[in-house]
Amino acid sequence: MLREVSQGRLEAGVTAWREVNKGLRQLNEALSRRREVLLVASPGGPVESFRKYDLRVLCADPDPAILAELENHGRRSLVDVVKAGTVDEALELAAEGAYDGAILGVSWPEGGSGFRIARAIRSLDRLSSVPVAFVADADAALQDRVTAAYSGTSLFITRPLAPEQLASAFDYFSAIKRADQPRILVLDDDDSFNAHLSGILAREGMKISTLADPTRILETLASERPDLLILDVILPKLSGFDVCKMIRSTPEWQTLPVLFLTVRLGAQDRLACFEAGGDDYLPKPVVGAELLARIKVRIDRVRLHQERANRDALTGLLARQAFVDAMEKRLAENRRTMRPLSLCLIDLDRFKQVNDTHGHLAGDLVIRAVGKLLHSRFRTEDLRGRWGGEEFVVSFAGEGLDTAREMLMRVLTELRQMNFADEHGEPFGTSFSAGIALFPDDGYTLEELVRAADRRLYAAKEAGRNQVVA
Ligand code: GH3
Ligand code: MG
Ligand code: MG
Repeated sequence: MLREVSQGRLEAGVTAWREVNKGLRQLNEALSRRREVLLVASPGGPVESFRKYDLRVLCADPDPAILAELENHGRRSLVDVVKAGTVDEALELAAEGAYDGAILGVSWPEGGSGFRIARAIRSLDRLSSVPVAFVADADAALQDRVTAAYSGTSLFITRPLAPEQLASAFDYFSAIKRADQPRILVLDDDDSFNAHLSGILAREGMKISTLADPTRILETLASERPDLLILDVILPKLSGFDVCKMIRSTPEWQTLPVLFLTVRLGAQDRLACFEAGGDDYLPKPVVGAELLARIKVRIDRVRLHQERANRDALTGLLARQAFVDAMEKRLAENRRTMRPLSLCLIDLDRFKQVNDTHGHLAGDLVIRAVGKLLHSRFRTEDLRGRWGGEEFVVSFAGEGLDTAREMLMRVLTELRQMNFADEHGEPFGTSFSAGIALFPDDGYTLEELVRAADRRLYAAKEAGRNQVVA
């Protein structure tokens, strides 16, 4: 049909476009069943193609057989496996692309180790929190596990590779990716429209939930906690405007971005959208590219706002309250599973002296460096925050005291090796003391854990500073 149009044998009117769109929709459906390419076309607009795979994973190992296995498994699970057979190749690929995870061999014939690759990858801004798994021999020692966790590794896959191990690694990568996905709630009683919209948004990496009954909006907001709400104007029982007003009168949802969908787009209708507290309106039926662009702008804004509120400006770590909130969630989860969870309090040593001798600016430089160090080491799921002043807090997921202590010792060693200089070029160094408490051994609540960690931190200071007490 497109050929006919382009050769002038068929007029490219509305009817022709309708046919083309129908064909593309069928193509979409066929392809999306295989979750590969999705095309969205609109008259006069661009044709867009979306991601072909659910996940993109960088796999680096010196053994071609291992790479082949990873690739095969990836193909079956719709994971785009990008292969590297040398350390240099791995680093080059990491520098060029975006990945949802990395699987790295531990030992390399050319020297260097998988740990070094992991660290190099995570020093790239774009990949600073990418989850990493290691392929190691079955008898990997505690030291290796500590080194791995320290360089950001969450998982060990042992040789020979078992399919279920690979599956759980890919599952783990997608779980991390999902947690980071924008969540969108669509309130519309038109099922086929919902399905169409969900398809478009899901392929953009967004998580969609739909609701047809407007009277259940508040409970659904509470359970889904969306980043954005798309609201049809014409609904059964209540109008979209009423729903929006109701949402806006609930303190928790006053800032939730709301986009209206409307078939009528007169000046009066547009005004009504804003009067009801909507942020934007979209003509229905929806054009893919425009909808996506408008949603993305909104989501980016919300994210940026949340980032600013949750992050400490100097260090980039979680601010105290955000850490507490995240930690409470972890604890609730671990009380169910009874998996260990550590809480470590870190306090810089004789920091008043640093300020007094080298100035406050130099002091800030040290705080920033510790923040960067904590941020770039450890795994995505390890929580790191600025507790206040020159105090930091870290929580390792699923690790016992020994591992936690060992990991903090590494941070301490690295920090001690850093050379700072004040504005007069005067060099100085720094160290910290830390106390570690463990769930469930030292307490069930955050308060109990903080108290226990604080006691040990005090003990570390008493014992001469520059050490970790667990
Ligand atoms: P100790 O080894 O016992 O911890 O000694 P200390 O001097 O570090 O004592 P303490 O932890 O009680 O003091 C913290 C000092 O850190 C107080 C304050 O001058 C400094 N400080 C707190 N926040 C900041 C900050 O954001 N920037 C700078 N430059 N200094 C800070
Ligand atoms: Mg202090
Ligand atoms: Mg101190």
